[in-house]
Amino acid sequence: MAPRHCDVLVIGAGAAGLMCALTAGQRGRAVQVVDHANRAGKKILMSGGGRCNFTNTGTSAGNFLSANPHFCKSALARYTPADFIDMVERHRIAWHEKELGQLFCDESSKQIVRMLLEECQQAGAQVRTGCTVESVERGTDGFRVRTSQGLFQSASLVVASGGLSIPSMGASGFGYELARQFGHALLPTRAGLVPLTLSGKHQERFADLSGVALPVEAHCNGQHFRNFMLLTHRGISGPAILQISSYWQPGDDLRLDLLPGRDAADWLQRMKRERGASALRTVLADVLPKRLAQRLCEHWLPDRALRQLDEPALAQAAALLSRFPLVASGTEGYRTAEVTLGGVDTAQVSSSTLESRRVPGLYFVGEVLDVTGWLGGYNFQWAWASGHAAGGVA
Ligand SMILES: Cc1cc2nc3c(=O)[nH]c(=O)nc-3n(C[C@H](O)[C@H](O)[C@H](O)COP(=O)(O)OP(=O)(O)OC[C@H]3O[C@@H](n4cnc5c(N)ncnc54)[C@H](O)[C@@H]3O)c2cc1C
Repeated sequence: MAPRHCDVLVIGAGAAGLMCALTAGQRGRAVQVVDHANRAGKKILMSGGGRCNFTNTGTSAGNFLSANPHFCKSALARYTPADFIDMVERHRIAWHEKELGQLFCDESSKQIVRMLLEECQQAGAQVRTGCTVESVERGTDGFRVRTSQGLFQSASLVVASGGLSIPSMGASGFGYELARQFGHALLPTRAGLVPLTLSGKHQERFADLSGVALPVEAHCNGQHFRNFMLLTHRGISGPAILQISSYWQPGDDLRLDLLPGRDAADWLQRMKRERGASALRTVLADVLPKRLAQRLCEHWLPDRALRQLDEPALAQAAALLSRFPLVASGTEGYRTAEVTLGGVDTAQVSSSTLESRRVPGLYFVGEVLDVTGWLGGYNFQWAWASGHAAGGVA
């Protein structure tokens, strides 16, 4: 059967693919998007607890992990959070800022998917779901893409197939295989923004505190995040832990400041002066969840009255409270991770056009690349910005 021709074929109808398609379509390019999932934008739908944290007004290169920390700058500078907010407002989608520049829909993430699909439709970009890519070849006349819905021929091919997180939502390693097929280097992938698991003594001692939440400052490999931590049956989660998980690898030192914003040594000295007859666990229960305070004093801290603690004992307690060494054994993996770290090496991709330096006409956008954002709307902003950059030239 004769192939169907288009100018731009986009693999993946997620955040980056749809943005790329609507941008290229607006330039008058004939665009076809294919996705093997049964509907477009599944991760957008499940994002932000159903309200899609669609951008972060404070987005900068510092909010991303990549072997080349400068790579994301060009695309981010040319499509900013304000640009995406403009589109959201044109579609009359009400939004609000939650905290730290994080913008969410007032109603539902469905509105963001609907907006992107409407923009694609207006720009004449076609979106096919339930369409599995079987093979990709490059000839003198462009790319030949064999799919479960027939053969396509296109001048440009955009890989927007995302990372490995949440396989049940359609995630696949397809983009990495395609990159390898065309001679691109891959950087090792691992789960990011993911709960950490505990084992041994730490797991035993904390397991029954599942559900306890507290503000902490999590430190690892020179990075730190202050936010809530949640104890779970198998380990630890919550925004502070999800954030630091992207910087943690097995064997790395992970420390928790359990009294963030407070000088633990000063505070303990003051408590000793003011409430010397009280047990350490009692004064700790004023600033930590009671059950956690008890557990700490059962296993790690002296379970005595403050006035019985001499200077070295107080200093030791302060050090433990401000730099608690939690031994994580692993992560919950791609099943629950929000993102995939690593991926297609940016060294062989243009930072301004997202075009392959090896294969003219081949583009990589979004999470498939080795660019991973923090929690808080940064990953979508990267998807919009990289999709827009490629859509402007593909
Ligand atoms: C639970 C959860 C919540 C999240 N919440 C937020 C949030 O609130 N804010 C934020 O900024 N980020 C959030 N993220 C991260 C964000 O969803 C991703 O970083 C972003 O979707 C990446 O965009 P993408 O277009 O590169 O990939 P995706 O959005 O994952 O899209 C890739 C598309 O490619 C398709 N595909 C994959 N393989 C193939 C194949 N072989 N053939 C055809 N199609 C294929 C997939 O079906 C999918 O539709 C969240 C992630 C998860 C898992």
